[in-house]
Amino acid sequence: MEDYIYKALALNDECKVYVVRSTNIVNTAIAKHDLYPSAASVLGKAMTIGLMMGGTLKLDEEVTIKLDGNGPIGYVCVDANSHGNVRGYCQNPHVNFTRNDKIDDITTLGCNGYIDVIKDLKMENLFTSSIRINTGDLAKDFTYYFTKSEQTPSAILLSSLFDVDNTCKVCGGVLLQLLPNASEKTISYLEKKLSKITEFSQILNNTNELEDILKLLFENDYKLLDKYEATFFCPCSKSRFVNGLLTLSENELLDMANDTKDTEVTCRYCNTQYSFTPDEIKNIYNLKKENNK
Ligand SMILES: [Zn+2]
Repeated sequence: MEDYIYKALALNDECKVYVVRSTNIVNTAIAKHDLYPSAASVLGKAMTIGLMMGGTLKLDEEVTIKLDGNGPIGYVCVDANSHGNVRGYCQNPHVNFTRNDKIDDITTLGCNGYIDVIKDLKMENLFTSSIRINTGDLAKDFTYYFTKSEQTPSAILLSSLFDVDNTCKVCGGVLLQLLPNASEKTISYLEKKLSKITEFSQILNNTNELEDILKLLFENDYKLLDKYEATFFCPCSKSRFVNGLLTLSENELLDMANDTKDTEVTCRYCNTQYSFTPDEIKNIYNLKKENNK
């Protein structure tokens, strides 16, 4: 089953909805980063939020989310765009906490730190916003973020389930955002509906067609605006790392060029390794000298 993002307008056009299934993306991240389940759960949920936020963006706009709750997982970094591409990594992938047989995201992430959101809206300045992590529960903390930092009253459902072999069984989420014209009737309908959803993970697990979640939430009062595939995608390449190496000093490059060993660089987002021979480093060094003239 492919991962998807569904965008809809619901409840008399007063509510925007983003539904995401990200199971394959989480399993790709597990394979790339060797994530243990609770690290995979936190990173997976952060990537799911990234995809939902990406859904709110236009064209080539991008969003970066950085989380640091001062917990065992360390910091978590996610990039997403409006085309359903997401990538992410965490500082400590070998983290696994459970409580009452359930994955414990809060202990994993910690609840004493910050959420930073950086949006590249292809304008002169980046949009940046930072809020405290209050609970360590990403659905709650991002609900607060949207209300506080983006002045958009929102609700978030977020869930992940893991199999005994430590692969992700299902991960996904729903972001509901009230439009400025939202009526009391719509607000109370949503409050009532959401209060009845106690096990979102089971709903997600039992749903093959994401549109069924829209039906469950809104019956027939919704319009599907768009749906597209979501994938773990990292645009890194050896030539991009050349640009990174060019930021080193001439002396540092010269040291590397005089080394007999290849220089290995690893993309933190996808763990792909790129190696540069001493000759290739020498060329980069020459390019740097040329640029500095
Ligand atoms: Zn990469």
